[in-house]
Amino acid sequence: MINRSRIVLAILGGVSILLNLSCANTEKLIGNKKEPLAKHIILVGADGLGAYAFDKAEMPNIRKMMEGGAYSLSARAVLPSSSAVNWASMIMGSGPELHGFTEWGSKTPELPSAVLGESGLYPTIFSVIDQQMPEAKMGVSYSWSGIGYLFEKDLVDLNSNGETEEETMQMGIDFIIKEKPAFTFIHLDEPDHTGHAIGHDTPQYYSAVARVDKLVGNLIEALEKEHLMQESIIIFTADHGGINTGHGGKTLAETQIPWIVYGKGILNKGELKNTIVTYDTAATIAYLLSLKVPESWRGKPVTEILNLN
Ligand SMILES: [Zn+2]
Repeated sequence: MINRSRIVLAILGGVSILLNLSCANTEKLIGNKKEPLAKHIILVGADGLGAYAFDKAEMPNIRKMMEGGAYSLSARAVLPSSSAVNWASMIMGSGPELHGFTEWGSKTPELPSAVLGESGLYPTIFSVIDQQMPEAKMGVSYSWSGIGYLFEKDLVDLNSNGETEEETMQMGIDFIIKEKPAFTFIHLDEPDHTGHAIGHDTPQYYSAVARVDKLVGNLIEALEKEHLMQESIIIFTADHGGINTGHGGKTLAETQIPWIVYGKGILNKGELKNTIVTYDTAATIAYLLSLKVPESWRGKPVTEILNLN
């Protein structure tokens, strides 16, 4: 009997050593967690800026990002080519069939979300950052109130709905300089507003695009002045394009969007060849911050921004 007990004890001891080893390995993995590729990721979205507009638009600052960074002018919106459904997809890493925001002005999911995060919303990039970088600051500055329904307000350090595009950009810039956030989302409601009021592909539309470009220039200038640009990556994109005085349909003018990345480690990479869908944006932000993404997400990180020759 004594011998048997000793054998059992010896086995238990062995199991215990194995368990300890496995714990040690886990800790080691956590200890070796990869560092973010940049300290500050900034997502700038221009509502209704179709990729088609790049043929004619004067946009020296955005072109500087394209030339100095990486870009695609054939990234795709999800269908329908409307606002809330696409902004949701952009920051939720998934299409409407999963997050459930399906219309232009969805304030709650018309289709129940496939999964819910801790804030009762389909998990966005904000919840991903909150869970894995709990000390990190993050914020949203937006000029269309509809954005306010698409992220976890309880998780962010800035939730600002600006009156104008200028105010919205300035709030975003001030937040970045003061708080040094890991992630900031800046939403501009132009050129969509002018597209609806006067028409896409009109002189007034291109003036609105130029206004957006000037604000992007203000952002880059402020980051450079504060010596933050060398630790920042800016992603510039749009929710959808447009045709005549609307969008929501199935033309390339409505569904092809710009997708431009500029900043640390992404120098002169040129035109991206791979397929990009707007829900790849959230997955790319997570990748740049070295974070794991929720199982339900379907977006893929656009790793080509770093791997091009
Ligand atoms: Zn829109």
